[in-house]
Formats: sequence, C-alpha cells, structure tokens
Amino acid sequence: MSDVEYLRLKLTAHLDFPQKGIVFLDIFPILRDPIAFETLITHLLYHLTSHTIPSIPSKKIDVVVGLDARGFLFGPIIALRLGAAFVPVRKKGKLPGTCETATYVKEYGSDSFEMQSDAIKPGQSVIVIDDLIATGGSAKAAGELIAKLGGKTAEYLFIIELAFLKGGSKLDAPVYSIIQSD
Ligand code: 5GP
Repeated sequence: MSDVEYLRLKLTAHLDFPQKGIVFLDIFPILRDPIAFETLITHLLYHLTSHTIPSIPSKKIDVVVGLDARGFLFGPIIALRLGAAFVPVRKKGKLPGTCETATYVKEYGSDSFEMQSDAIKPGQSVIVIDDLIATGGSAKAAGELIAKLGGKTAEYLFIIELAFLKGGSKLDAPVYSIIQSD
C-alpha cells in the first residue's frame, strides 16, 4: 500500500458537521496513530526537499506559515525539520502586538485572519500549511497577509484538497495536496 493510500484510509467522514449539508473530513485519526503521523510528516518533507518547487530553485524555505487551527498541529514540525521559522495565522484578536488583517469567506461563514507584522521579512520564501483546502478563501487570506509583509509564497500545502471546488485557482502560488477528494 502506498503512503497516500495509507493516509487516505485513516480519514473519517462526518455528515452534517459542523452544520447540515457539510461532509466534514477528519484528519485526527492520522494524529492518533504515530506511524501514520510520521508518514504524513515524511511525505511532506520528501515533497519539500526532493521535488523542485519552481519559485524556490534553491529549495530554501525561510518560513512555514500554519493556519488556525489544524495547521498548528503539523506546521511547526515541518518548520523544525526544515530549519525554518514557524509563523501562525490566527483568527482576529488572538495575537498580541501590531498585526496585519485579512478577511475571507469560507465554506461555511466568514472570518478575519491576522499575522504579527514583524513575523516575515521582505523577500523571505514562505510555504503555507493547513489540513484541507475547500474554497481556498482562508489560504488566499493567508497569502494576502504574507504579501503585505513582503514575503514570497512558494507553495500552499494541504493534506486534503476538495478538488471539485477548485480553491487553488484563487491562490498566487501552486497547491500541493496529498489526497484529492471529490
Ligand atoms: P476554505 O477556506 O478553503 O473554504 O476552507 C478551508 C478551511 O476550513 C481550513 O482551515 C479547514 O481546516 C476547514 N475545513 C473546511 N472543511 C473541512 C473539512 O471537511 N475537514 C477539515 N478537517 N477541515 C475543513
């Protein structure tokens, strides 16, 4: 069995969560199994270090940006293993100090994201990590925050991509997803 199949089999689908009509894909069973969790991290690191990302010819990644909240669960591990900084994007009002703000509409509801204004330096190469891309609204807001600070987003990484929603078409850099779901 491939690592992708192994991770796919761990996902569970929950009908009508968090509201009626939504089928929510849960990644937590991956984190419950240390072998699956390690497989996830190794898969992402292999992608980032063995495949050429066109916008980072040197493969040097300065900053890993994780999205509130499930991007915080594996983004810092990827950052540590790459020797990169980890920067959180959080829901509005959660971060201290001067922040940049971007508003987005998601699959259900709308919200604002913030990033600390000194978190990224102009010219730094950045990757964005979250568990799932649906409409791409939250990832787009994160990309806007990175651009406001002068960072260069090289790639957006997700465990799952709801491919039929074509969220990646909204983004300013390529998407890499381990599992594509229709
Ligand atoms: P988007 O902004 O791309 O429409 O929605 C993506 C955001 O919503 C991500 O932060 C993701 O965590 C969350 N999300 C939406 N649907 C699901 C789902 O089915 N499963 C999981 N794990 N997260 C979801």
